[in-house]
Amino acid sequence: MAISVGFIGLGNMGNPMALNVLKSGFPLTVFDKVPKTMENLVAAGAKGAASAKAVLEACEVVLTCLPGSPEVEELYLGASGLLELAKPGSVFVDLSSVLPSTPRKLEARAKARGIEFLESPVSGGVTGARAATLAVMTGGDAAVLERVRPILKSIGPNIYHVGPSGSGNTVKAINNMLSTVNACAMYEGLMVGIKSGLDLKAMAEIIRNSSGNSNAVARVDRALIPRNFEPGFKVQLMNKDLETFNTIAKEMHVPVSFSNVAQRYQQTALAAGLGEKDTSVIFTLIEKLAGVTPPGSGA
Ligand code: NAD
Repeated sequence: MAISVGFIGLGNMGNPMALNVLKSGFPLTVFDKVPKTMENLVAAGAKGAASAKAVLEACEVVLTCLPGSPEVEELYLGASGLLELAKPGSVFVDLSSVLPSTPRKLEARAKARGIEFLESPVSGGVTGARAATLAVMTGGDAAVLERVRPILKSIGPNIYHVGPSGSGNTVKAINNMLSTVNACAMYEGLMVGIKSGLDLKAMAEIIRNSSGNSNAVARVDRALIPRNFEPGFKVQLMNKDLETFNTIAKEMHVPVSFSNVAQRYQQTALAAGLGEKDTSVIFTLIEKLAGVTPPGSGA
């Protein structure tokens, strides 16, 4: 019989990942504190639970995908947290991007209760979550990963066992630092081009086929030209990931610079009330700083 799976946290990433777990044939029970996020999954055949506790009661393996360390630690370690309520033998996989110290704490608490816990942050964005092409970066016991690999395969083909607990979120923070540094550098470069009278689409096409190419260039067609800054990946989450990277760098005594520049832009967006927008909205801040009038603004 297929393993019964639970999924808690059905936001921009969790919802499409949960749908792919269901499509792979696993009986699925879902919960999010915002009930609306469960509707499409229940319509597709998942069972909607009334609480996180109800998910535990119905499932052998539980996946979680929450914003960051405070939410994850509250859910797992809080007064009636998952690790207090779960039966020994249960398996938890946290897909959230968090501080490496969080999975280390959770793994220790889980072990003490005879429960298995893995961190498995993911990369590939909402597009990758929908297409089931995410990269999965697992830290923790490799034998437990083998047990849950068939479930994780339904969200992405590239599943890496990085090392002990905390290592998955370390490589994830490095990846997100690179992705946002690439994007912020691209926005600055494109703004120089726009002010010089170059066409945005033409610049993107040339860069895509040249040595300055990166995944960031996909943002031009997806967000910058249509001026669609709905998430996607929220500014507040990218700010958190840069904070994680900078925290690790400080702990390791590695001097880092580019992440601080990228985080300054996320901080400016937060101060402008844009925390819930997609991180591509940074482009509009650079536009303002450069004194460029957005297309279609009538000015
Ligand atoms: P989101 O804010 O869209 O979704 C988070 C969901 O968690 C929300 O639906 C919220 O209601 C729910 N939630 C929070 N606390 C809860 C609780 N105690 N019980 C039940 N539900 C709870 O965020 P997202 O974009 O889906 O990101 C989730 C995680 O994945 C974050 O750690 C993020 O950094 C990471 N991530 C995001 C992307 C992306 O492109 N959005 C890509 C890779 C990784």
